[in-house]
Amino acid sequence: MVKDKQLVLTANMKNYNSACHGFRWDSVFKEISFFKNKKINAAYNAIDRHAEDWRRNKVALYWEGAEGQKEKHTFQDMKHNTNKFANMLKKYGIKKGERVFFFLPRVVPLYVGFLGTLKTGAIAGTLFSAFGPKALQDRLENSEAKFVVTNNALKGRIYKIKNKLPKLKKIIIVDGARKKGEIDYLKEMEQASRDFKVAEMKLNDYAFMLYTSGTTGKPKGVVHCHEAVIQEHITAKWTLDLHPEDTYWCTADPGWVTGIAYEILGPWSNGISQVVYEGRFDPNKWYSIIEDYKVTVWYTAPTAVRMLMKYGTELVKKYDLSSLRYINSVGEPLNPEAIRWGKKAYGLTFHDNWWQTETGAQMIANYACMPVKLGSMGKPFPGMTAAIVDDKGKKVPVGQEGNLVLKPKWPSMMRWVWNRTDKYKSYFQHGWYISGDKARIDKDGYFWFIGRADDVIKTAGERVGPFEVESALVEHPAVIEAGVIGKPDKLRGNIIKAFCVLASGYKPSKQLEKELAQFVKKHLAGHCYPREIEFRKTLPKTRSGKIMRRVLKAQELGEKIGDTSTMAEY
Ligand code: ATP
Ligand code: MG
Repeated sequence: MVKDKQLVLTANMKNYNSACHGFRWDSVFKEISFFKNKKINAAYNAIDRHAEDWRRNKVALYWEGAEGQKEKHTFQDMKHNTNKFANMLKKYGIKKGERVFFFLPRVVPLYVGFLGTLKTGAIAGTLFSAFGPKALQDRLENSEAKFVVTNNALKGRIYKIKNKLPKLKKIIIVDGARKKGEIDYLKEMEQASRDFKVAEMKLNDYAFMLYTSGTTGKPKGVVHCHEAVIQEHITAKWTLDLHPEDTYWCTADPGWVTGIAYEILGPWSNGISQVVYEGRFDPNKWYSIIEDYKVTVWYTAPTAVRMLMKYGTELVKKYDLSSLRYINSVGEPLNPEAIRWGKKAYGLTFHDNWWQTETGAQMIANYACMPVKLGSMGKPFPGMTAAIVDDKGKKVPVGQEGNLVLKPKWPSMMRWVWNRTDKYKSYFQHGWYISGDKARIDKDGYFWFIGRADDVIKTAGERVGPFEVESALVEHPAVIEAGVIGKPDKLRGNIIKAFCVLASGYKPSKQLEKELAQFVKKHLAGHCYPREIEFRKTLPKTRSGKIMRRVLKAQELGEKIGDTSTMAEY
């Protein structure tokens, strides 16, 4: 049996039960740097404190551009550059609480600028670089952004909507201004002082905001405070198991929360060296990043894992991935088949964890010190209370499906949905934070994801979660990816309809449809099999890689699709 290499280093969290026992957030405070009177700054924790200790010459960021350019930035470099950016914002009149949005690919100024903004006390926001003008307008209008930081390739989309954004005052161009009125990042950074007095913020002062993935509907402008860094720090340490000697790679984009919490804030607060790769997904390139930088801890998403599966274990063998010791996944349920494949391909177990933009940090996770049950999200992070309740907020018995809820409040909990106070309030009911996801808990306290509340299918009096049907389908060698919906049916209420993407070498046929239906029937349960199967080349996904079942459903029923601002072309 292949023994997981992660066992080579002692896990930071040695025993789950003891970590939970008597856990207090105060006890994490000793790992965080505060100013006088409990004042804090998340960026100071991520960068400056390391630039002031033995890590000053340690590489914080290994950056590789889409064209293969390579840069290294130490914690000291990052301190100076983020200070310069903060000075530039000050020079152009930024004030505490004002919004600075970053519309950039994964380039160094995004990381420098985000942290530099936090240092001034302003709120940093991110916009995924594939957004079109309408998606940008919605977000910049709602957040009333004052500054946008972008580049020459992307700025045209901002100019298209600029006259509809009276609050937008300045556009900073990171690869050199070319138009009158633009601020030239390169020139300003050259001239700015590398000293800056970091703003001392209250724990609950706003630090950053971003819009949710839009999987279920209109994206929400979720706002987080400086104290979020406390939880991002300890989860990066205990869930991602980051050690000082690790080289870490998170494949998420800071346009989404994973890229902020587990690229910018959590890992750097732990003083970790990390790799950022600007380019797109490409299996060869991804493996060479792991090989070249000797990545030890890797954090990715199910959609990427499924794509890597498509390329098979043969490709894996062409690379030396022996540096890897611990691998993690987030964003969607991780199919058991993907975990089994990961074990075969890398000799490691993918550790799945569950959280949301709104929760600001990992909430339920599989930890290095705990056995993984394939398909389970794991257990609540110490200090968090998670439960499965009915619509009145009452806990349901073990094994029963219900609403996945959390006990407020926690340090990284969102504090507002920008300009949508009613929406914000609607998350809190019966003393719980309502996640909008359905799940169940087993007798050992592991949580199992069932589906988004809106996606659960009622068929012939039974409730079926799309995830279990999808997972059963991808167990079949012909299926790479599956999206499952309920399709209204006179007799049964709904029938299960599956949309499948086939592996190379397989062709759609009636025979295959039958075979897949039988396969699910046999592996799952008689009532859970898809009565209809449609083969597709791709599935509709958010740009953060989540299957958009509501789009499949709307297409099936010939209804309006709704907000598509985060939908990737497919
Ligand atoms: P929106 O709220 O706009 O519809 P979204 O919920 O997809 O979009 P995110 O905050 O990016 O936006 O995603 C959080 C959601 O992703 C969770 O509520 C859950 O449905 C799903 N998710 C994340 N991680 C996991 C996981 N490990 N297992 C199952 N589902 C997950
Ligand atoms: Mg959501």
